[in-house]
Amino acid sequence: MAPHALIDTVYEKVVQRNAGELEFHQAVKEVLDTLAPVLDRRPEYVRAGILERFVEPERQLIFRIPWQDDQGQCRVNRGFRVQFNSALGPFKGGLRFHPSVYLGIIKFLGFEQVLKNSLTGLTMGGGEGGSDFDPKGKSDGEVMRFCQSFMTELQHHIGPDTDIPAGDIGVGSREIGYLFGQYKRMRNEFTGVLTGKGLDWGGSLMRTEATGYGLVYMVQEALQAQGKGLDGLTVSVSGAGHVALYAAEKIQQLGGKVVTLSDSSGFIYDPDGIKLDTVKRLKEVQRQRIRAYVTSHKKARYYEGCRGVWGVACDVALPCATQNELDENSARTLVEQGCTVVGEGANMPTTPEAIAVFHGSDTLFLPGKAANAGGVAVSGLEMVQNSQRLSWTLEKADKELKTIMKRIYHDIRQAAREYGCPGNLVLGANIAGFVKVADTMLAQGIV
Ligand code: NDP
Repeated sequence: MAPHALIDTVYEKVVQRNAGELEFHQAVKEVLDTLAPVLDRRPEYVRAGILERFVEPERQLIFRIPWQDDQGQCRVNRGFRVQFNSALGPFKGGLRFHPSVYLGIIKFLGFEQVLKNSLTGLTMGGGEGGSDFDPKGKSDGEVMRFCQSFMTELQHHIGPDTDIPAGDIGVGSREIGYLFGQYKRMRNEFTGVLTGKGLDWGGSLMRTEATGYGLVYMVQEALQAQGKGLDGLTVSVSGAGHVALYAAEKIQQLGGKVVTLSDSSGFIYDPDGIKLDTVKRLKEVQRQRIRAYVTSHKKARYYEGCRGVWGVACDVALPCATQNELDENSARTLVEQGCTVVGEGANMPTTPEAIAVFHGSDTLFLPGKAANAGGVAVSGLEMVQNSQRLSWTLEKADKELKTIMKRIYHDIRQAAREYGCPGNLVLGANIAGFVKVADTMLAQGIV
C-alpha cells in the first residue's frame, strides 16, 4: 500500500478501535501526518506492520481504587496504566491524578512518551498511568490512603526493569513518597521503581526542576541559532505547577522577564515580573490558587479564565499547563503581537490549528515531545544513579540535562532538514523519535 493510503487506513482504524478517545486520536494523527517521507524511504517498515503495531499499546490496565475519606466514607476511583511500547527499554512515563483522566488521555500521553523517550537517547520505552482522583481539597491522609490503594494494584504490573512511573499533573513529591512507601511495604524491596523520589531515598538532584529548566535550555539553544539570547525578553508562561515554576525560574536566571502564570481558574499578570518566591510559597507550601498572588503584589492583576494568558504581549510563550490550552485564536494573537518562539512545556498544549498558524508565520514552534523531554531525561539519569547506588552532584545532573536538551534540538532540526521540511520541528521530532523505535522493533522481530 502507498504510504499516504496506509497512514489513512491506520488512522481510521485507530479512531474506530478507540472510539471517543479524542486526545489519543489527535496525538496519533499529528504523528502519522508527518511520517509519509519515512515510509517512502523505508518500505520494510510497511511490510513489518510497524505503523499498525506502533499505534497499539502493548498492554492497557484499568483497575478499581477503593479508599476511605476523612469521614469514613468509602470512595471509588478508576486507575489506569497503559504500557505503550517497550522496544527501547522498560516502560517509562508519568502518573496523572486529575478528574478529567480517562483512557483517552492516558493513551495520548503514553503514545507521546514513546517518541519523547526515544529522543532522549536513553534506553526507555513509553507508557503513562493515572486516575480520575482529584487531589485538590483532599487532606494529606486522604491522599495517602488513595495512593496506597492505587499502588496496591499497580505494584503487580511495575518494577525497576519492567515499568518505572513518575509524576505528572497532580502527582508531585508527596504522592511519589506515598506510592513508593506502599510499593516497598508490599514487595519488601527498596528499588528504583519510581522516579521523582526524595533526595534522601534515591531521588536525583535536578529532577524537580528538569522539565522546566530543560524547556528553557532548548529555547535558549533555538534563540542562539538565530544569534539571540533570552536577556531582556518578555516571557508568558501558563500553568503554576512543577513545569511552569521551574521554566519561569530558569528564564529569570537567564535575564528574561516572566510576566504571567495561570491555573485552571485564571491568570496573573505582573508587569514588573512575577516574584517566584511568592508563587512557590502559595502553590508548593500553602496549596492556594494563583489569584492569591495579587493580594501581596499591588501592581499585579488577576483575570478569570486561563486562556486570556495568551493575550498578553510577549517575545516567548511557554504553555506549561495542559493539553489544548492554546488554540488558533490565541496563536494568531501571539503572532500578531510579535512572539518569536513558542516552546511547549506541557504535553500537546497547542491545538493542530494553532500549530498551523505558527508554521505559517515567523514564530518558531518547539513541540513538547522534544521541548519537555528534560523531565524524563533526568528520570532516566535517576534510574542510572539508582542502579549504581550513587548520587550525582547538582552540577553533573544539570550539565547532563543541558547536553541532552541541546542534542535533541539539533537532532530534530537535522531530521526536519533531512526529510525536506527545514524548520518544521514537529515533523523533525516525530521522525527522529520514530525511526529509532521503528528500527528497534524491526530488529526485535514481530512481537
Ligand atoms: P502540576 O500538577 O504541577 O501543575 C499543573 C498546572 O496546570 C496547574 O497550575 C494546573 O492548575 C494547571 N492545569 C491543570 N489542568 C488544567 C486545565 N484543564 N486547564 C487549565 N490549567 C490546568 O503538573 P505539571 O507541572 O507536572 O504538568 C504540567 C504539564 O506538563 C502537563 O501537560 C504534563 O503532562 C506536562 N509534563 C510534565 C512533566 C513533569 O516532569 N512533571 C514532564 C513532561 C511534561 P490547577 O491547579 O487549577 O489544576
